[in-house]
Amino acid sequence: MNGPDFKEALRGAGLRVTSPRLAVLSTISRRQHVDAETIISDVRTQLGKVSQQTVYDTLHALSGVGILRCMTPDGGASLYEIEHHDNHHHLLCRNCGRLIDVPCATGDVPCIHPPEEGDITIDFAEVIYHGLCADCTAQDK
Ligand SMILES: [Zn+2]
Ligand SMILES: [Zn+2]
Ligand SMILES: [Zn+2]
Repeated sequence: MNGPDFKEALRGAGLRVTSPRLAVLSTISRRQHVDAETIISDVRTQLGKVSQQTVYDTLHALSGVGILRCMTPDGGASLYEIEHHDNHHHLLCRNCGRLIDVPCATGDVPCIHPPEEGDITIDFAEVIYHGLCADCTAQDK
């Protein structure tokens, strides 16, 4: 996604196109799995004075309409990425601490079902693999 696509995504979700929203989206699209603190400092570099609350509100609004995906691996800081609706999962590397995208084994949403679903409703399964990323696996050999 680039600038014009962001505008379209915002309008498609019924959100007004504002400069903080565009700045947040461009920051997140240039990195992956980025935390709010990094987003705030990057948005300030782009726009000058922007309140922390504005950025948090923006992240909340964009996650709420499914433009952003938010994860909180291991109870740490929430990490944001552009939602591509590919149902991908994540590997949390125990050596370098990076979060790596891992494709879903089945592609179906939800990809995991409990043995007895009973009367609950499952929207999706959030899977976090724990182990070593490719770089750290190579070093480990
Ligand atoms: Zn690693
Ligand atoms: Zn991801
Ligand atoms: Zn899956």
